[in-house]
Amino acid sequence: MAIYNPKSLKAEEFINHEEILETLKYAEENKHNVKLINELLEKARPKKTADGHVCAGLSHREASVLLACDIPEIIDKMYKVAEEIKEAFYGNRIVMFAPLYLSNYCVNGCLYCPYHAKNKHIGRKKLTQEEVKAEVIALQDMGHKRLAIEAGEDPVNNPIEYILECINTIYNVHHKNGDIRRVNVNIAATTVENYRKLKEAGIGTYILFQETYHKKSYEELHPTGPKHDYDYHTEAMDRAMEGGIDDVGLGVLFGLDKYRYEFAGLLMHAEHLEAVHGVGPHTISVPRVKHADDIDPDVFDNSISDEMFTKIAACIRIAVPYTGMIISTRETEEVRKKMLQVGISQVSGASRTSVGGYTQEERPHDTEQFDVSDQRTLDEVVSWLMDTGHIPSFCTACYRAGRTGDRFMSLCKSGQILNCCTPNALMTLTEYLVDYASEDTRKKGYKMIEEELKKIPNDNVRKIAAEHIEAIKNSNQRDFRF
Ligand code: SAM
Repeated sequence: MAIYNPKSLKAEEFINHEEILETLKYAEENKHNVKLINELLEKARPKKTADGHVCAGLSHREASVLLACDIPEIIDKMYKVAEEIKEAFYGNRIVMFAPLYLSNYCVNGCLYCPYHAKNKHIGRKKLTQEEVKAEVIALQDMGHKRLAIEAGEDPVNNPIEYILECINTIYNVHHKNGDIRRVNVNIAATTVENYRKLKEAGIGTYILFQETYHKKSYEELHPTGPKHDYDYHTEAMDRAMEGGIDDVGLGVLFGLDKYRYEFAGLLMHAEHLEAVHGVGPHTISVPRVKHADDIDPDVFDNSISDEMFTKIAACIRIAVPYTGMIISTRETEEVRKKMLQVGISQVSGASRTSVGGYTQEERPHDTEQFDVSDQRTLDEVVSWLMDTGHIPSFCTACYRAGRTGDRFMSLCKSGQILNCCTPNALMTLTEYLVDYASEDTRKKGYKMIEEELKKIPNDNVRKIAAEHIEAIKNSNQRDFRF
């Protein structure tokens, strides 16, 4: 029997099945222990320091108690603490991005994904470099600055050289005032050598969803192909870090296995990265299984309600306060709104999940990876975010200024967010408003920017940000950053 050890590099030791079972038992026994839960919530709340806030976070055991608790008043308290943490470290900024599907060729057999190799009727497509360019122009014309590239796993059709060529193409498209300034990468687990190549190509975050932390389920859900290897997949982030990538993004595909098990596994993974590499995950994504081509989500009997989904997000926010949290257009506007309140810091907008989808007039469904629930335009999402009190941010400054890994985390803790991230958000929002927004959104945005500028504490920063904003409005100068 493997022994739990967060510092180990072996999957079965840092995501340890027995430890998860013990955790779930402990959570069940303590789920009505109001005294303990109140102490945990107090411990997790942000504490003011001379130059910012610090937050203790919670361990997987502690956070699992919160998740198990079903007392309505305590759940409300959890939401308040989650909101407080979000406010302290992320403010009201929401970072925008879009996925870009490069290829849906895949040799794996994932039971929940329509790109699985046995699907013989789905259209298979791989973008040429000319097509990548056209997709990027379409994305830039909407106003996007940050992409997450997606591809199936296929060493013949989508080798690492193809992915690297696409990244290079994407960074080199400069259309009108448009630019893609950060390319995040969501491709299958690979070797240290390939991670090093991705790092050299200038990627932002390397994202890989675990899908499920439950080894037995994982093996059943991935019956064939290289992804079948649970250990290789689970240990991928350690190889990515060894290859020099220090911003990695975790995620679970909720609905495949029991959510409490997944939650504990996810937090153990975060603790492991912190213990071994000194830096936790840059982001955590919370996708849920959706209908797609030949995939019926009801086949997986662990689906979770919107309420439980919100509670999971709040508990993640409380447990890992410095980690960004991502919600995609898999979710409806209504669910996304609730999730924003409890801790989400990044959302996608106007996503198309088909290969080559952005250059088509009508949303195509033939090569789609999953149905998109939130089908609003980027302008509608931006306008809606402002209506709900959020600053839509197209900022990509941190990674370009070398603030990755633990350097990003220290910025987060230092309280400099208001003097750094807020002005960056306001300047990139101005770019969006000037270059791409509808008249209504532009007016709303200018008003918000005027108000938000006043809240920047440092006089000098406020003055410079205001000057840059005027320069963006009155000239073609772009890409200012703190
Ligand atoms: N092929 C790569 C891999 O194996 O990690 C890239 C990831 S894939 C393009 C992006 C993610 O979409 C997957 O990791 C999975 O969690 C999610 N996904 C797959 N099928 C889905 C479905 N039916 N509904 C929702 N999400 C799905």
